[in-house]
Amino acid sequence: MKKDFKPDQLLLGGTAKQEYVPLDGHQLYAKKDGPGMYLSTAIRAKMQNDKKRFWAGDNISDYVAESDIESLITEAAQAFEQVLDALLIDRETDPNSQGTARRLAKMYFNEVMAGRYEPAPDATAFPNDSTDRYEGMLVVRSELRSMCSHHHQPVSGVAYIGIIAANKLIGLSKYTRIAQWCARRGTLQEELCNDIAREIMRATDAEDVAVYIQAIHGCCENRGIMAHSSLTQTTVLKGSFKTDGNTKKEFFDNIKLQQEFAPR
Ligand SMILES: [Zn+2]
Repeated sequence: MKKDFKPDQLLLGGTAKQEYVPLDGHQLYAKKDGPGMYLSTAIRAKMQNDKKRFWAGDNISDYVAESDIESLITEAAQAFEQVLDALLIDRETDPNSQGTARRLAKMYFNEVMAGRYEPAPDATAFPNDSTDRYEGMLVVRSELRSMCSHHHQPVSGVAYIGIIAANKLIGLSKYTRIAQWCARRGTLQEELCNDIAREIMRATDAEDVAVYIQAIHGCCENRGIMAHSSLTQTTVLKGSFKTDGNTKKEFFDNIKLQQEFAPR
């Protein structure tokens, strides 16, 4: 049973979303009638149709409604059950494994990868254009929790965000909210550093932005080289942080002062 459907109707319409999923690429849709015909299949087809990239570090909140999350968690929980079965873990009689599939699904959507599904944090900007405007450097330290795309192992560390105030300012907590929104995805630290710089520039209209991240990676500590004291540092410099040696030095001096104030 096939029926022509526009992808937008599929995802925006109330009941259509529940009953129809796309087949054969983009144009053909069939009534949902068995396993494998899932909401995630429909959303994936729409993103492919729109040539929307959906890598582990990409935000796809334009394609996933808040009301979709519960259904997607149920799908992921069923898939995690299959993973546990393949690992030969008894999820029927082992009390610690009974709810694990659903716990994993919820953890991915609501916590460790929440930054993929949630829209950008609201960062209201305040004007900084009076005669006594703030013209100095601002350095904000943000705690980060992330996950590596390669092994889905935890990454934990801090980002130091430096900015020369432009014509608008955002609330101090917003820097950390933006950084954490970028981090709560599957990431590479190098890309995460770029992502945070780009989103801070977008929220503040500032051209002079720097981001320094230092983090420890579960994939180096818990497996592979088992390196327990390894620390990875990445830096992205934009505008005067890149072109002016004094600005760059002030940024790193500020980081040292922060680390003396509260070691991290
Ligand atoms: Zn890794």
